[in-house]
Amino acid sequence: MAEMTESKNFIHAFIDEDIAEGGRYEGQTVHTRFPPEPNGYLHIGHCKALIIDFGTAEKYNGMCNLRMDDTNPTKEDVEFVEAIKEDIHWLGFDWGDRFFYGSDYFEKDYEYAVELIKKGLAYVCELTPEQAKEYRGDLNTPATSPWRDRPIEESLDLFARMRAGEFEDNKYTLRAKIDLASGNFNMRDPVIYRIRHMHHHRQGDKWCIYPMYDFAHPIQDALEGITHSLCSLEFENHRPLYNWVVENVSVPHTPRQIEFARLGIDHTVLSKRKLRALVENGYVSGWDDPRMPTLCGLRRRGYTPAAIRNFCDRVGVAKSPNTIEYGFLEHCLREDLNETAQRVMAVLKPVKLTITNYPEGQSEAMVVENNPNRPEDGTREVTFSRNLWIEADDFLAVPVPKYKRLYPDGPECRLKGAYLIKCTGCVTDADGNVVEVLATYDPASRGGDPADGRKVKGATIHWVDAQTAVDAEVRQYSNLFDDPDPDAAGKDFLACLNPNSLEVLTGCKVEASLACAQAGSSYQFMRLGYFCPDSKDSAPGHLVFNRSVNLKDSFKSSK
Ligand code: ATP
Ligand code: MG
Repeated sequence: MAEMTESKNFIHAFIDEDIAEGGRYEGQTVHTRFPPEPNGYLHIGHCKALIIDFGTAEKYNGMCNLRMDDTNPTKEDVEFVEAIKEDIHWLGFDWGDRFFYGSDYFEKDYEYAVELIKKGLAYVCELTPEQAKEYRGDLNTPATSPWRDRPIEESLDLFARMRAGEFEDNKYTLRAKIDLASGNFNMRDPVIYRIRHMHHHRQGDKWCIYPMYDFAHPIQDALEGITHSLCSLEFENHRPLYNWVVENVSVPHTPRQIEFARLGIDHTVLSKRKLRALVENGYVSGWDDPRMPTLCGLRRRGYTPAAIRNFCDRVGVAKSPNTIEYGFLEHCLREDLNETAQRVMAVLKPVKLTITNYPEGQSEAMVVENNPNRPEDGTREVTFSRNLWIEADDFLAVPVPKYKRLYPDGPECRLKGAYLIKCTGCVTDADGNVVEVLATYDPASRGGDPADGRKVKGATIHWVDAQTAVDAEVRQYSNLFDDPDPDAAGKDFLACLNPNSLEVLTGCKVEASLACAQAGSSYQFMRLGYFCPDSKDSAPGHLVFNRSVNLKDSFKSSK
């Protein structure tokens, strides 16, 4: 994948140039900010921005502010502010004491707007929203603006009365006086303030006029001494306006905006609006449903900060939009868990196995390694006895070609870490369903290897002792969307949902060491995948595991 090998970071190249030139950043350390709008939970796309913002600050020994972008009064929700902080800390980033709210600058925004009016660079307009559209012009026709030449005194008076609450919503706007003929429509005298008689989650009813993002954001950046304002590509066309604001109001600093491509991942949507729709319409159990691409969903699914950060690092920082395979995210998780997760045995679709020549009432402890990649994690004991659970599909009454597992008079198979066995038959119920598999074991093969060095032709299968096994529920997930690109513009993403993205298995049997498994730990269930206890629903006595990722790697680095 080209974008993964050429992960040269053009943002750092720009910053290096700025530092070399001195000029407007003379004496300043590199200072970035992450400005989430608190109208939803962070998703993995935000992670990319976080890594760019905090990572750039780290690289240059600088600082990164966390600023809630709450200028828009319509959507904010306090619940999200705390969740956003928690997720950022979980990823391992810290803003120190530099936590801000965009709305804390409303008074300053107002003063700068007045400054623009006084300079003849802003005016109160009274076009209705419909008229404003009509007067906007098109690529060949400049916009028209009948209130452009309103005297400064009159605009100052009206703007003050707008703030005082004298007018209803949309009666007036404040517009920057820039260029009605600009090829960039954002520069055609953009609205910078509008009237909204709405309650603000922090400011209460103090304000009934609210600044537009394009006006407020550069001011916030400049007031906080941000040197580099890193944002996604949709703001590229807004950069001239950003620069115009910074140049025309008397802010203390001149931040530079640099845009990067948004992260896209196939088979999912990365837009808070769409994620919110999934939650509100009950398609998922919440923002932290383990199928969600939110950080809280990924965390509940068993993703680690290391896996997510590694994924973002390897995707790199690009200037052109890129959609990454979901399989690559899974690949990064698998790599991490392969190093860190403890190996255990669990049987998800159990059938009973009886070792007919093993004495009844006897049992023994087999010593198995916890993680071959981490010898320091040591070993543990698993109980072996005459009655075990194995996966139902590790037995076939009538084998299919090339089947190397258990079938009557089939090959010798290895019970992982225990003994070699040979299947001798099975017991079926009245309907012909297999209810018990029968086998004999070789007592001389303790540990799983033949004493005489003979070749074992069958497969190695996992098992759990029936007497000591613990019951569990296991939730297996697959793509939330069947369609590879549900996020495409104009697509009905809800129609792309995979109706089978969640499979719940009950009556699974896990080894006794998992009886007290705690959320936050990860396990490799041998031959099955990586699993973690569900942070909401799992408890001793009622174990619930989420499949984080299966073992098979569908991602090919050569693609
Ligand atoms: P959404 O469409 O999901 O609501 P947003 O851009 O409105 O996204 P914000 O809370 O405003 O969400 O985002 C905070 C920061 O994260 C912004 O700087 C934004 O550019 C960045 N960001 C959001 N989504 C992505 C993404 N998919 N890839 C990279 N950066 C992103
Ligand atoms: Mg936004």
